[in-house]
Amino acid sequence: MPVMITARPRRVREPDGAVRVVADVEGAEPLWFSVESEYEALLAERADHVAVALLLPAMRYGRDLRIGGVVTDVLLHRLNHDVQGLVRAVDPGFRAIEVTAEETAPAGPPASGVVTGFSGGVDSFATLAEYATGSAVPPDLRITHLINNNVGAHGDGGRALWRVRYDALRPVADELGLPFIPVDSNIDAHYPQMGFMETVTFRNAAVVHLLGGGIGRSYHASEGTYRNIRMPPPHGDIGLAGAITFPLLSTPALTLESTSSAQSRIERTLALVGSPYADHLDVCIDWDPHRLVNCSHCWKCMRTMLTLEIAGHLDEFVPHVFQRAPYEARRAAYYVEIMASDEPNDTELVEFGDQRGWHWGSGTRARAAAVRARRSMLDTARRVRRSIRSTMRGSR
Ligand SMILES: [Zn+2]
Repeated sequence: MPVMITARPRRVREPDGAVRVVADVEGAEPLWFSVESEYEALLAERADHVAVALLLPAMRYGRDLRIGGVVTDVLLHRLNHDVQGLVRAVDPGFRAIEVTAEETAPAGPPASGVVTGFSGGVDSFATLAEYATGSAVPPDLRITHLINNNVGAHGDGGRALWRVRYDALRPVADELGLPFIPVDSNIDAHYPQMGFMETVTFRNAAVVHLLGGGIGRSYHASEGTYRNIRMPPPHGDIGLAGAITFPLLSTPALTLESTSSAQSRIERTLALVGSPYADHLDVCIDWDPHRLVNCSHCWKCMRTMLTLEIAGHLDEFVPHVFQRAPYEARRAAYYVEIMASDEPNDTELVEFGDQRGWHWGSGTRARAAAVRARRSMLDTARRVRRSIRSTMRGSR
């Protein structure tokens, strides 16, 4: 099997003073992460972040991975065993590979920092409410740093949009009195033809390992409540398995945790009603760096707005967070989408509406049933075609 080889990570000072941690990758562009100079003390000396960052690309292209520098022994073991099993259970297109390191070492003592990613979304506010703004948070669990990672979430808008969103969220971090660290990287360039949601866990986990010099615990806001945690469907969103994945990416020096699953998405959304931070809510997936409020028609905006409207609180978020017109223009079609969906957060939203006596409009359930029937017919046709193809291959 061909090998993907990386050099020991080195630090480079950028012209603006930022510190870039670079790992040369044979035959590809170097992998780099960068932080402002005031956060240099948080950077780890080891190459754990390189191993986590490049595992999926190496598995995708069927290349063994040889990491330059020191990798923590526990992490290396996990990356060679259960982590690969989990990844391949979601997508068998990822190949089993061997990961080795120039040097291995046991984990040192954990650093005292506790970090969470802060995006301004419903889930990250829920994690802040539990571990930063709550009154009785034990010191070992209290958030000490916020991060905002440029690891490919910002689509075509890329770096520009990431900066705009970071700047918009800064006031919240200032008010909380927490350092808010922008972590830039080119990790996305190493994930060609790999969807963001299918790989998000590893991109963010790599950043946390990068900061292992000062961070001993990190929180990753889960996508839903405990009853919805499950293995993702084939080729699905690996974030659904966060509660299973993050422990496997932890070491005795760095605990990665999936958080806030005690609350449903609806409870997390409604917890923002009356919150002093609600004006900074940013759930939108619209990539336009010039947008000033949430687009109010993407599926994430729609879900949040409908939750608020059913609960009778949408007015409090209009027009400074959301706009009513784009939402209302899509709303009837969105009802059909969520009623026809198997996604747990959609199902919960429909149940929530039913409990509150929400008027979905006449014919909506029938239209959703028709969408479901059409989809199941297409699925059956696909399965039949696949089975015919494999029978023909077998008879050749
Ligand atoms: Zn939106």
